[in-house]
Amino acid sequence: MVLENVKCSVSNCRYWQNQFCNASAIEVNVDGGGKQAKDSVETQCRTFQAK
Ligand code: SF4
Repeated sequence: MVLENVKCSVSNCRYWQNQFCNASAIEVNVDGGGKQAKDSVETQCRTFQAK
């Protein structure tokens, strides 16, 4: 099942399918830890798994 509202460009992730994510859920954290990010580059998907 594709998460239709989760667009993703990480094409080497096992959950990636034609520009979208097909994981059942995802976890996104602040890059480097903590609870606040200044912009999107400071966030990261923890659900990523390499193909
Ligand atoms: S798990 Fe994360 S990195 Fe992988 S396709 Fe989904 S949103 Fe992208």
